[in-house]
Amino acid sequence: MKVDRTINNRTGNKDLIKDINIYHCINAIRSHDLISRAEISKEIGLAQSTITKIINPLIEDGLILEVGDGTSTGGRKPINLKFNNDFGFILSVKIEASKLIIALCNLEPSIISTSVTDFKIGTSYEELLPILIKELHLMNQDRVFAIGITISGIVDDDKGMLISSTLLGWSNIHLCDDLKKEFGVVIFIENDVNAFAVYQLNSEFGKGHNSFVCMTVGEGVGSGIIINGKLYKGEFGGAGEIGHQILFPGGKKCYCGQHGCLEMYVNEDEVLHRIEQKIGQTVTYNQVFRENVVDKKIVDETMLEVYNFVGIAVINLIMQMNPQRIIIGVKKEVDTELLETYLKEIIRENWFYKKAKMETEICFTVLVNEKFVIGMAQIVTNEIVNNSILLGEFNSVFGD
Ligand SMILES: [Zn+2]
Repeated sequence: MKVDRTINNRTGNKDLIKDINIYHCINAIRSHDLISRAEISKEIGLAQSTITKIINPLIEDGLILEVGDGTSTGGRKPINLKFNNDFGFILSVKIEASKLIIALCNLEPSIISTSVTDFKIGTSYEELLPILIKELHLMNQDRVFAIGITISGIVDDDKGMLISSTLLGWSNIHLCDDLKKEFGVVIFIENDVNAFAVYQLNSEFGKGHNSFVCMTVGEGVGSGIIINGKLYKGEFGGAGEIGHQILFPGGKKCYCGQHGCLEMYVNEDEVLHRIEQKIGQTVTYNQVFRENVVDKKIVDETMLEVYNFVGIAVINLIMQMNPQRIIIGVKKEVDTELLETYLKEIIRENWFYKKAKMETEICFTVLVNEKFVIGMAQIVTNEIVNNSILLGEFNSVFGD
């Protein structure tokens, strides 16, 4: 279940202003390793006495810590404040086609422990739910405030449900309600590529960049859009489903029901199919990319053929979004140097670059599970810290 974002339960403007001030104080503290009351005052424009009034109960609760002496500019040395990242925990879950990854994270968020559970491809939701509940109980502990689920497909985060996942073959799944009944904490759900994009906000590629698009290219193709530092999800939650943009009208039948979707021309099955046609025998992903049984020249040539289509998708993204950069997530076996050079050549052919020299930067990063679960934990932390405070629900979420 999602935290109610409405403010109808507030008793008046005074309470709302107080909550907003608490929100600004906590966010100022969260965004610095250490910060003094005077620095918070300068940053958010509130009197130090107001800040002290807000902060003191949070220090008593243990959410904010007082640490050491700050650097003094003369007179009494200020005490620094720090957000207590270990005040509470989140269980962050990634559901893949045949794997459940559960990470216990603190509020930073960083991973404290992880569990991985395999299940059969094609497992129904009804079969998987008891496995998920059992594994979550094994990872659960005191002061777990929320559970976040990240999954491939279209999700409705307001209703807390998975609308459709072609990867899992599930549709209309009320995942958040089912877990809420069992665990009694707030449950969040988000599309996996969106969680990956949120992770990038603090990564070497995304940090300091306000607007970027994160593309994932592997078994499927997806994207997560960050605008002004925030995830853009569209009106119905499906923004960034670029894998199902039609590249060839009347082309190959896609499992989504359309014909000619981008994903059908760039996914791993297509890469293997093209290689098989060239070498005249069947091969697996592991044989090609881990055991190197196929001549690298053939693999490289095939990847470039496929990345020709990725390049079209990248140009389309540049035309639609005009982002500062596009971060492309690929499996670690992929030769990113080769593809980066090639993609840069392709996008320099685009009209924006040719006419105005507006160059979107392209960078590659490796798809690993940690990035998805940390991104999901980040979404959850932001929601529970920001929204609960805005709603004056601090005690019900963080209280004893
Ligand atoms: Zn499709």
